[in-house]
Amino acid sequence: MAVPRLRTPQPYARLGVRPVINAQSWVTALGGSVMRPEVLQAMSEAASCFVDMVELNRAAGKVVARACGAEGGMVTAGASAAGTIAVAACMTGSDRAKVEQLPDSTGMKNEVLLFTGERNRYDMAFELPGARIVEWGIAGGASPYQLDAAIAERTCAVVTVFQPLLARGLAVSEVCEVAHARGTPVIVDAAAEVPPLDNLTRFVREGADLVFFSGGKGIGGPQNAGLLAGRSDLVEAAYLNALNLDAPRAGVGRGMKASRESIVGMVTAVELLLESDEEALYRGWMDKAAHVHARLDGIEGLRIVIEEPGPDRHGPQPVIYFEPDWTGPSPAEVRRRLLDGEPPIHVGFGYYADEVNIVVVCLQDGEEEVVATRLLGILNSR
Ligand SMILES: *Cc1c(COP(=O)(O)O)cnc(C)c1O
Repeated sequence: MAVPRLRTPQPYARLGVRPVINAQSWVTALGGSVMRPEVLQAMSEAASCFVDMVELNRAAGKVVARACGAEGGMVTAGASAAGTIAVAACMTGSDRAKVEQLPDSTGMKNEVLLFTGERNRYDMAFELPGARIVEWGIAGGASPYQLDAAIAERTCAVVTVFQPLLARGLAVSEVCEVAHARGTPVIVDAAAEVPPLDNLTRFVREGADLVFFSGGKGIGGPQNAGLLAGRSDLVEAAYLNALNLDAPRAGVGRGMKASRESIVGMVTAVELLLESDEEALYRGWMDKAAHVHARLDGIEGLRIVIEEPGPDRHGPQPVIYFEPDWTGPSPAEVRRRLLDGEPPIHVGFGYYADEVNIVVVCLQDGEEEVVATRLLGILNSR
């Protein structure tokens, strides 16, 4: 088994910051993902000279469009930035006067419909360009007629959000059927939905007018990069709001510019992902999950199960369930001691407070052994 790197990289050492073990997934709070050497190399080379940023964005956009099976695409400064720019695009279309009027959206279609159950911690991104979120449906369930009734004169877009553990509204195809019949575009927030790779093209296939992904989660690009793809007229409108370099007013996307390093890093990460062997990736995760499972299985009062990946789980996931006859430290205590140790270990959360999820997708080779050993020590300390 590979020995994990315990050395603190110099730039962090100088700042007095310790590396942590990420058994929690591609979360923003821990840095997103670890970029592959090819991505870092491309970014470093990109930083070494000047380019025409519009030309670069356009060329990268073509790669994004192809990867997503869409007419158009662009690299953004993350999924949140893509959400802001996407809504701006739906409000302004190709009208330059409207682009320059934002974030004052007076006189424009400026309401974004969002299913009540899909409200989430990131959704202010849709309000940022000057739109207002209007909720539709009730959290317990969603019906096409409810969405249809909610579409109004001022609706600029319907947004559908995918996020683990979030209540789901209608399927994207159902949302599109209702919205398109009313001439309303559909934006899909699929920030953390890749891998699986097929999800890159899935939402456009299902009818989405715009879809966006986080570049720095499972795609493995820079944390401050993202992908926006979809209908060419809307992507053109997105460029107007994000990269209107010769206009008197720069547009609401100005504060979210993607640097040439992150554009190049993003494109490189996407291309590497498209060439990657998805089954081998999955097998690597499964090996780590199986290792943790084998080390922890059989402790009385605990049930440890490898849960299958799915919309609510990134990769195969060893989950520790605490049974009523468990007499050791509580799940909260286990988490606290994992964080208090050296290096700190961050683990995932599931459906219940009483479980500890070991998410393996961000574990570096060998860290599964560190996590298992630390957990064994904590769990056996009764
Ligand atoms: C992570 C996430 C975002 C934000 O992504 P960034 O690339 O960090 O801006 C937005 N929406 C959802 C559902 C997410 O999971």
